[in-house]
Amino acid sequence: MEQTDRMDCRGIGSDKEASWESGVRRVVPYTPGEQPRQAGIIKLNTNECPYPPSPQVKRLAAEFETDVLRLYPDPEASLLVKSIASHFGVGEDQVFVGIGSDDVLAMAFLTFFNTDKPILFPDITYSFYDVWANLFGIPFFRPALDENFRLVKEDYLVPNGGIVIANPNAPTGICEPLSVIEEIIAKNPGSLVIIDEAYVDFGGESAMPLVEKYENLLVVQTFSKSRAMAGMRIGFAVGSTKAIRYLRDVKFSFNSYTMDAPTIAWGAASMADDAYFRETVEKVVTTREYLKKELASLGFSFPDSRTNFVFASHERVPAAELFAALKEAGIYVRYFPGERTGNHLRITVGTREQTEALLAFLRKYLK
Ligand code: PMP
Repeated sequence: MEQTDRMDCRGIGSDKEASWESGVRRVVPYTPGEQPRQAGIIKLNTNECPYPPSPQVKRLAAEFETDVLRLYPDPEASLLVKSIASHFGVGEDQVFVGIGSDDVLAMAFLTFFNTDKPILFPDITYSFYDVWANLFGIPFFRPALDENFRLVKEDYLVPNGGIVIANPNAPTGICEPLSVIEEIIAKNPGSLVIIDEAYVDFGGESAMPLVEKYENLLVVQTFSKSRAMAGMRIGFAVGSTKAIRYLRDVKFSFNSYTMDAPTIAWGAASMADDAYFRETVEKVVTTREYLKKELASLGFSFPDSRTNFVFASHERVPAAELFAALKEAGIYVRYFPGERTGNHLRITVGTREQTEALLAFLRKYLK
């Protein structure tokens, strides 16, 4: 009785609208690229590496003892952290690892963007940023890239609650010079600046050397592209000891055991195999340059890509039409509807054979 009275006087018990759903956190999720189940698809839609991971990973996988799965994995992922720290010549306390860079970026948003001021990222960039901002209730503002899809530096020299820049950017493939990135970091000592370098290994200029100089910089990279391990899910951030400590505090307030034992061991082996990594990147870059040349001769134009994809639009045929025709032919690329992106296709650089198949189709279709 007492309970009912209390409910009535708050108007809860009598509210017909009130249901369990009124308390749901409703969000519009990110839409990842399609992962087709059929065999034989030429998959150039999610910027995966067309080559296998390091043979060292294969060796460890073959030797893997399932008995270790009885135990919880190392919550510090020390082996992996060590391999990353040693590769980049930073302290282990300057490295944070996560389940793909999506996990690292989400943790960074949750950790560092906690003011009423809007965070800033470009209007055309990785489309997960606004999803995380909405999920965590972070206000954001998206300054427009210029007509050539270039970053307008001045837009980031205004009061803000944080900055996120993908460099090279996705889906444009453009890499801004490090001098521009450094100026943005230097002139924003009151904000944490995230540089998302998912594609940097394919020819971008990394901000990694700046981590010793700026406490407010977090550089995020991934094993999903240049290290051919998208299926394993490994991402990492390198930053100041202080920033990494804050990030770890939030991560360990959420879930201690996110990274499993095989991932830790195989990731460390992959990071240590530098020769294989370089060889893979070189093959992708060589094919990218060939793809650019051939696309240009077919009437496509595109910003100069420093990534493992090309963001191309055709002089005559609309991107939506090409996307559908390619898909019909079993060649998957990515299409982003929208006013500024809707006449472009984002084409991942595949093997030379996959690239020839794509070009053969386009030559015939565009004739
Ligand atoms: N950043 C950018 C710019 C990306 O394109 C991607 C890939 N979708 C990611 C981060 C996340 O990659 P992952 O979670 O596989 O590391």
